Amino acid sequence: MTLRETRRAAAVVAVLGAWLTLVGTQAGSVWRMGLGLLALLGGLILDAAQVRCPACGRWLRWDSGPRCAACGAEIPWDGENSST
Ligand SMILES: [Zn+2]
Repeated sequence: MTLRETRRAAAVVAVLGAWLTLVGTQAGSVWRMGLGLLALLGGLILDAAQVRCPACGRWLRWDSGPRCAACGAEIPWDGENSST
């Protein structure tokens, strides 16, 4: 999975979680709110754990630029994770 695909998957999970939390809040459904918050957190954690600079390991946050803001290394958004 490329970095871009990982980021997209994490965003989908987080957005679904946020939506479920909202629906649960309006319906007064505690388990839906809990599940939604869990998914929201899970998506954010997945992003923070996987979408990192291959050179310095820093989380890329919401910056999807071509270079790492910390060390200036090129980010292989569409390349497989490899140590070439
Ligand atoms: Zn870096």
